[in-house]
Amino acid sequence: TETILKVDNLHTYFKTEHGKVPSVNGVSFEVKEGETLAIVGESGSGKSVTSLSIMGLIEAPGKVEKGSILFEKTDLTKIDKKAYRKLRGNEIAMIFQEPLTSLNPLFTIGNQLSEAIKLHQKVDKRVARVKGIEMLKHVGIPRAEKVFDSYPHVLSGGMRQRVMIAMALSCNPKLLIADEPTTALDVTIQAQILELMKKLSTENNTAILLITHDLGVVAEMADKVVVMYAGQVVEHTDVFTLFSNPKHPYTKGLLDSTPKFHEAEEELSSIRGTVPTPATMPVGCKFHPRCPFATEQCIVQEPVLEEISDDHQVRCWLYAEKEAVVS
Ligand code: SF4
Ligand code: MG
Repeated sequence: TETILKVDNLHTYFKTEHGKVPSVNGVSFEVKEGETLAIVGESGSGKSVTSLSIMGLIEAPGKVEKGSILFEKTDLTKIDKKAYRKLRGNEIAMIFQEPLTSLNPLFTIGNQLSEAIKLHQKVDKRVARVKGIEMLKHVGIPRAEKVFDSYPHVLSGGMRQRVMIAMALSCNPKLLIADEPTTALDVTIQAQILELMKKLSTENNTAILLITHDLGVVAEMADKVVVMYAGQVVEHTDVFTLFSNPKHPYTKGLLDSTPKFHEAEEELSSIRGTVPTPATMPVGCKFHPRCPFATEQCIVQEPVLEEISDDHQVRCWLYAEKEAVVS
């Protein structure tokens, strides 16, 4: 299978009163066609900034400083805004947490959907309408003709998210980036939307980059998982290994603080302490103030991400070669 997205050593910085601070600090991963990779972490871990960097949506004072983002053969860090706009909503589709903000309130669903279809499938208005209604039915919207002629505000959150998925898929993207796509929805609707995304990714071989704080969603959707903390990858493996054999103390904490899957309420919070801010970024291991296993070494020396077995990388001294060089 083909690699659709390859992020290599991505650094995204923001200019603040503390100088340039990294929100994403050397992140690497890849997503193959038909595969779902989840990036998981608390708010402030850098997961959303990672997705925004990939989509070319980082605005000043933020900046992608270093690294490459290969989408197929194109390095997205090297293309201009216009080229980016062409890729987005064409080969790369996006779904966000609150679909109301992504839909234009002044136009009907059908208007927006058929615009997308006309643009991407090069068909006339009449065909776009037929196809649009078909898409709405395909994403499980009842009375699709009526919804087609409705304005976004009359729909429920779940229906709007279905519309967004229909819009995203009307361009048959190679990559779908979904940032907390179901966080605002109730549990039943959430399950239906995830099921729908899964079905569509299987049918169209779409690669999905899924940003979430919810390990229930990860278990449901992901093939591979990247766990982020303070802008870095702390664990990276397949979903089965992550749940059966988690290694990083942060990952273990996340798993412990998920009482029951499918009950996404608050951000994960039962790990003591909070994600450090730029002003409080610790030296050594960035997780050490919250880590129950921290040693003297952890306080002064930062661990690197190391391969501890096939396709399993961990950033923690507990699993590292002890004679590491001082950074
Ligand atoms: Fe904890 Fe040390 Fe591992 Fe960091 S390196 S996660 S402080 S044990
Ligand atoms: Mg976010």
